[in-house]
Amino acid sequence: MKSGKSLSGLRLNTLLLLNSGARHGYELIKDLRIISGRKVSPGQVYPLLKQLQNGRLVQITSRGERDKKVYALTKTGRRVVTESISKLGGLLDFFLQSKITACAHCNCEVYRGGYKVSVGPKTLYFCCKDCAEAYRIMK
Ligand SMILES: [Zn+2]
Repeated sequence: MKSGKSLSGLRLNTLLLLNSGARHGYELIKDLRIISGRKVSPGQVYPLLKQLQNGRLVQITSRGERDKKVYALTKTGRRVVTESISKLGGLLDFFLQSKITACAHCNCEVYRGGYKVSVGPKTLYFCCKDCAEAYRIMK
């Protein structure tokens, strides 16, 4: 980001949650606890929301019952989130692709726990022992 602050942790989670729908502050805190699996305090969230408002990523859309503020992404906020998601997606694809090997027999993608067989100088990867055996029989 141009601000030099990385979209990570609490900040990213907050933007992702608001991207899925506007929320009251207390709902946001509750959901942040759920998705992060950590203790998230109002003392962390409200200053962050203020900072995001100042950065024009978040706005207060309405005041609901008992004067509770509802936080929502601005148009800029939505764009930032969309860009971050596509960057994260690209990164995730990269890491997944580097871990994928195709089974030499059935050609299915093997993410983990593949079956490795050395055939002469080559190492072949299979999704399972049965595929390795079937491949051996076919040759
Ligand atoms: Zn296979």
